[in-house]
Amino acid sequence: MALPMCGSRLLFLSCRKIHRLSPINRTICSQGSSDKYDYDLLVIGGGSGGLACAKEAAQYDKKVMVLDYVDPTPKGTKWGLGGTCVNVGCIPKKLMHQAALLGEAIDDSRKYGWQVQDDVTHSWDTLVAGVQNHVKSLNWGHRIQLKDKNVQYMNAKGSFVDNHTVKAVTAKGKEELVTAENIVLATGMRPRYPKIPGALEYGITSDDIFSLKKPPGRTLVIGGSYVALECAGFLNGLGFPTSVMVRSICLRGFDQQMARLVTDQMQSKGVEFLWHIVPQQLEQTQDDHLTMTWMDGNGVSGHLHYDTVMFAIGRDPETSSLNLDLAGVELTASGKIASKNGEQSSVPHIYALGDILQGGIELTPVAIKAGKLLAQRLFGNQTHTMDYEKVATTVFTPLEYSCVGLSEEAAIERHGEENIEVYHAFYKPVEFSVAERTAEFCYIKAICTGDGDQRILGLHISGPHAGEMMQGFAAAVKCGLTYHQLASTVGIHPTSAEEVAKLHITKRSGLDPTVTGC
Ligand code: FAD
Ligand code: NDP
Repeated sequence: MALPMCGSRLLFLSCRKIHRLSPINRTICSQGSSDKYDYDLLVIGGGSGGLACAKEAAQYDKKVMVLDYVDPTPKGTKWGLGGTCVNVGCIPKKLMHQAALLGEAIDDSRKYGWQVQDDVTHSWDTLVAGVQNHVKSLNWGHRIQLKDKNVQYMNAKGSFVDNHTVKAVTAKGKEELVTAENIVLATGMRPRYPKIPGALEYGITSDDIFSLKKPPGRTLVIGGSYVALECAGFLNGLGFPTSVMVRSICLRGFDQQMARLVTDQMQSKGVEFLWHIVPQQLEQTQDDHLTMTWMDGNGVSGHLHYDTVMFAIGRDPETSSLNLDLAGVELTASGKIASKNGEQSSVPHIYALGDILQGGIELTPVAIKAGKLLAQRLFGNQTHTMDYEKVATTVFTPLEYSCVGLSEEAAIERHGEENIEVYHAFYKPVEFSVAERTAEFCYIKAICTGDGDQRILGLHISGPHAGEMMQGFAAAVKCGLTYHQLASTVGIHPTSAEEVAKLHITKRSGLDPTVTGC
């Protein structure tokens, strides 16, 4: 049964009338304490941060509404409730990463005795169908959870009318005004297109790739960061000839020794890197292929031919259509919400979460934690604030590179080269032996302070399941783990994670960091 919407001023009155008539509606409409506004909390944006905040606020018996709306991509791709992570980010990406890993496992399995045919093929259609079925189940799950927690959900685009009033417009153009005592903005970011001819007409972005109707074929990915490398990694793993066009360096902001390991490993698996060139024009040929014109820093240009061109050149905050000026909310030059105090905007009862918050980190668990903590502070008399320091992250290419804390460059800049000690080791996962896989890209590096107990400033791991390996170490690093505590930890044998506890060679010593034997 569809829940009645108690959101608009108009409907709120009728909702109160229904309240006396229907026990079901009573549970929906009777919560909340604010008489002046329709809602105690209105969340604009039903993604990782917004949903977490709304659900947490509802635990305190508050009257909460979520507006979520997805503008289709230039290719017409759209999706359901849950935001980027669920629909066009972490989840479909991890599933396609897994598909690529399974391809590698097929190769390995032959060496382990499995009689696998030589002509194993992959079906893009089957993969997309499986991924999209899972995504749809998550969309449904989010709707059910909101319903169970009596959070009103409206599939509508929100924009400010004044600092307590938001206009919600549905896809069919139906408008409602919603008032709220507190408003949380969690509208996320969307992929950026370069301002070159043909980009919008013929290019796609990560918003399209996970539901692409036909196999991408020969693919050019433009960009050198998380999204570009991850998508290029799984496409190559699935057998599509894949090139990456990089204008400068890869994984800016990450430890560059680790970034090079990642790109070297991708190259060794067949990904082509086109360094130091930028896209100029994208055209469609008569036979439905694409021609990309590129240019380098010296003005030299050329043409390349592909079936699919995907832009992964960064993401823009979804703040331009919120009419923030009508509420007095200040933006930064990048279009993110300026933060005054944690997640608080320049207007005290309006908050921002997740990707659109200036100074935040564009990761799902960050948005979720910040959202929960904000709801607890607003309605639960709590005081805990979000700690944006030492957040671990993983790049899935499909080799995993995971890290927490400082890069070696950042540690040197902050502490001085003479004041840090770097422990490092190459390691060979035991399962690589029979599979005869190279271990030259499996590497661990712990960057520590140079004196005393040698507090770990940054930990970096590349190798299979590095993300799974890192999570527990990240908790320890967050708690102030020192090199001596790490070294006194007894490993679990035979695992790759035990290699972290076995680190003993310093970079300064110049000794060979290649691990031999157990
Ligand atoms: P979102 O989840 O983007 O949600 C915002 C929602 O608000 C969207 O549904 C949007 O349509 C809606 N909206 C926008 N404007 C309005 C409006 N005016 N009215 C109503 N609704 C509106 N992070 C990780 O931690 N791990 C990963 O592995 C990972 N992989 C990623 C892979 C890709 C390809 C991408 C693109 C991102 C990935 N991320 C990953 C990042 C992660 O997805 C984001 O950090 C996270 O989703 C941000 O959450 P959010 O709540 O800020 O916004
Ligand atoms: P980023 O902003 O991190 O990177 C953009 C990349 O595109 C850079 O390599 C940049 O190069 C390049 N670029 C920018 N403009 C152009 C241009 N005009 N022509 C060619 N190249 C260009 O964006 P992403 O979209 O990769 O990632 C966004 C965020 O999403 C990340 O910061 C991350 O937090 C999150 N995310 C997390 C993932 C995870 O946790 N595994 C996975 C994917 C995304 P340059 O360095 O020269 O500026």
